[in-house]
Amino acid sequence: MSTERSINFSAGPAIIPESVLQKASKEMLNWNNTGMSLMELSHRSGPFKELIAKIEQDLIDLLKIPETHKVLFLQGGAHFMFSGVPLNLMGENGKGDYILTGNWSTRAMNEAKKYGKVNVVCKPDEFNKIPPKEEWNLSTDASYVYYCDNETVKGVEFPDIPDVGDVPLVCDMSSNFLSRPFDVSKFGCVYACAQKNFGMAGLTIAIVRKDLIGKQLPYTPMMLDFELQAKANSMFNTPSTYAIYIAGLIFDWLKEQGGLEEIAKINLKKCKLIYDAIDNSNGFYKSPVEIKSRSRMNIPFVCKNKEWETEWLEGAAKLKLVSLKGHRSVGGFRASIYNAMSYEGCEKLVNYMIDFMKSKEK
Ligand code: PMP
Repeated sequence: MSTERSINFSAGPAIIPESVLQKASKEMLNWNNTGMSLMELSHRSGPFKELIAKIEQDLIDLLKIPETHKVLFLQGGAHFMFSGVPLNLMGENGKGDYILTGNWSTRAMNEAKKYGKVNVVCKPDEFNKIPPKEEWNLSTDASYVYYCDNETVKGVEFPDIPDVGDVPLVCDMSSNFLSRPFDVSKFGCVYACAQKNFGMAGLTIAIVRKDLIGKQLPYTPMMLDFELQAKANSMFNTPSTYAIYIAGLIFDWLKEQGGLEEIAKINLKKCKLIYDAIDNSNGFYKSPVEIKSRSRMNIPFVCKNKEWETEWLEGAAKLKLVSLKGHRSVGGFRASIYNAMSYEGCEKLVNYMIDFMKSKEK
């Protein structure tokens, strides 16, 4: 790794593999012998159409997306989908079931209320766990069940895809998309913004079951209309071409790493290293999340004296370990260790955590 680069634990926009940035920088002035930057290239041009088709195919290969599902390259961030989901999927029943496990699922539910009824399936007192299914209150007449696979702020992640019977399952996978394989066929719709695990802000990918497309409410804005977007193959208007290109470079990088099975193994090793450091610290560090709901991607933790936080962060920054401050609503620290964060980066963090602890316990 280049010595001038920080070891970036930001929750998003987040770290990007250095080789991807190098490739993009090499191709900046002349992409693929077009004599221009990808940024300057028309989205209607042959080379761009070929590129987006390749990128879509790479995603299909990585996730083994079945024929039954359509990939959409959208914009507007994950927030776009907070509105897009109810507008397109609430349909005749006019009702969505929402599993609340943190602030992102709550925000999505609040947006959905504008377009129809919502039912809260569960809502733990504190957002520090996934409540067991026995505590869920699923409706019998919902058009879909919504959940957030990984709540980025408090670091709460579903260990498995929830079983909700025949009702279409909708998932915000913004902060753990492509961090492990999953069975796309179980979803009515799954989506993620790019700026955490596959590149830069400006792109949101949605994978939607084809038979659910075309049920949008009549007043759905055209940009949010899955049917229009699907018919236009994500070229309804000018898509975020550069963000799509960067996502494509990351898909290439993921394949080079051995695909999602391999990436999932590395991710497990990385988070185990950090959780072990927390759990073996004799209470010096603490994770606020129930063990079986702990996120593999976003690890919030506190140290036993709140007054040491600034010193801890400053000491970390001196070692180029940056963006470790906890979310403003939570405090403490948070290490976001998406795919592009190396095992060595996590080791450096853990060594620092231990050194800091020893310095206080002298
Ligand atoms: N969902 C999750 C799980 C997130 O972590 C975030 C934060 N980026 C969002 C939604 C909102 O994303 P955006 O800023 O792209 O709208």
